[in-house]
Amino acid sequence: MSEKKKALPITDAEWEIMRVVWTTQETTSKEVTEILNEKMEWKSTTVKTLLSRLVEKGMLGTKRNGNKFTYFPLVEEKKSIEALSEDLLEKVCSKKVGKVLESIITNSTLSFSDLDQLESLLQEKRKTAVDVVPCNCIPGQCQCHHVR
Ligand SMILES: [Zn+2]
Repeated sequence: MSEKKKALPITDAEWEIMRVVWTTQETTSKEVTEILNEKMEWKSTTVKTLLSRLVEKGMLGTKRNGNKFTYFPLVEEKKSIEALSEDLLEKVCSKKVGKVLESIITNSTLSFSDLDQLESLLQEKRKTAVDVVPCNCIPGQCQCHHVR
């Protein structure tokens, strides 16, 4: 096995919690429950469980404030979003990454400034582009190995 960066070790439910903590920076389980009430309809015990899992996973820190616990992020939102997109691209053959990016762009609403940035990024990427992207898969997980 190749040494890949460890995938972002959190579930979709835990990600919902992280978004609240990144936004508030410091919060309580009561506040998280209130904020996510409409979207997730989680009981306060569910939120407490998810918060303590995130503490165990090193994503959140916690401290006691009088009789209640507060939670704060130990991992930056920006870093986590980068890890999330790396996780996504690691799930497909590297030959198909271009198509994945294409479909992300196709399905996104983008501003003129987003497009300006993407255009200059693409210009920059031309400098390091290759004729054929090498496959990174094990035989049997993509079509590449069947081509002779
Ligand atoms: Zn492949």
